[in-house]
Amino acid sequence: MPEKVRTYLDWNATAPLSAAARQAVLAALALDGNPSSVHGEGRAARALIDGARRDVAALAGAEAAHVTFTSGATEAANMVLTPDFRMGRTPLSIGRLYVSAIEHPAVREGGRFGKDKVTEIPVTPVGVVDLAALEHLLATHDASAGLPMVAIMLANNETGIVQPVREAAAIVRRHGGLLVVDAVQGAGRLPLSIADLDADFLILSSHKLGGPKGAGALVARGEVLMPKPLIHGGGQEKGHRSGTENVSAIAGFAAAARAAIEGMDGRNIGIAGLRDRMEAGMAEIAADVVIHGRLPGRDVSRLCNTTFFSLPGLKSETGQIAFDLEGIALSAGSACSSGKVGASHVLTAMGFDAGLGALRVSLGATTSEADVERFLAAFGRIAGRRRHGVAAA
Ligand code: PLP
Repeated sequence: MPEKVRTYLDWNATAPLSAAARQAVLAALALDGNPSSVHGEGRAARALIDGARRDVAALAGAEAAHVTFTSGATEAANMVLTPDFRMGRTPLSIGRLYVSAIEHPAVREGGRFGKDKVTEIPVTPVGVVDLAALEHLLATHDASAGLPMVAIMLANNETGIVQPVREAAAIVRRHGGLLVVDAVQGAGRLPLSIADLDADFLILSSHKLGGPKGAGALVARGEVLMPKPLIHGGGQEKGHRSGTENVSAIAGFAAAARAAIEGMDGRNIGIAGLRDRMEAGMAEIAADVVIHGRLPGRDVSRLCNTTFFSLPGLKSETGQIAFDLEGIALSAGSACSSGKVGASHVLTAMGFDAGLGALRVSLGATTSEADVERFLAAFGRIAGRRRHGVAAA
């Protein structure tokens, strides 16, 4: 029997390991030294990490000295979301964390802030953070307990909707706060510069870019303002993150960062073309499909690769399984680690009913026209069955 073709359209969950990243990982695995050792073997590993730091800094428009490698974006978020900072040698307290209601759980959980010290910033019905609400929250912030910290993502992982980070930064600055930007989904898909965004910190993840899982970074604007370390020990990463560096994962992360920078514009135009073709096809097949972020008169800026849609009568879980049986890997946008599909906190924050089903298709560098055609054929069959009440639940 011929092997069934699988079509991977879940790049926002994780991007397949790129050939360049795989090669870099394998080459780094051949290095025997500990990067903290002074001998030649150690120095070779250190040189690799120094180069990787420059590559990741270039992706973030930052300085290499301001990049701290972590085990991923979740760790970077837990490192930076803390009430305890230092400004040089002087302790600095953050009194309250304001997080947008659509943040990834890695940020939305509030890191090391107590639950009573975290306030959600609402989003508007079109899925962008409500800047008037942010202004009001910061204007009424009680500064006696410390400065405000604000966390707003660059682009949402479920909807792909790009957030008004620069505008938010202007508000945060006016109120003397700190701004943390989860740039995990935007990196490589949007031009990225920590200075242009006027953010204090960026959070990055390797595996969304085609690098290996288990590597990420906290990128700082400068060297003076830094959070109290999350992981203590041997003082690696200038004392900001102890533990022997994951040399091979960092090497793969850097290769993915280099590839993300090279040819970014051309690649993303190609991906956007496929996404547009796919969305047009979906609307032809099912006129009642709702593409979130693409409603007439309520269009917002979205990532080039993401389509988050609802089909009346199709539940997330049913739809996800139906597509999987068709050989298409996509996701319900909001899946917890058990694999169980919960209501999307992003859609509920946008004011949709918690029971609304939605599915996310996310494309990437190797997605082809044939992948889109296979998706549309499956979409047609599933939408048709739904009309006849089979896939509907
Ligand atoms: N932030 C966003 C927006 C994400 O999409 C993800 C991954 O799903 C994370 C953070 C967590 O990244 P990591 O898997 O590197 O911890």
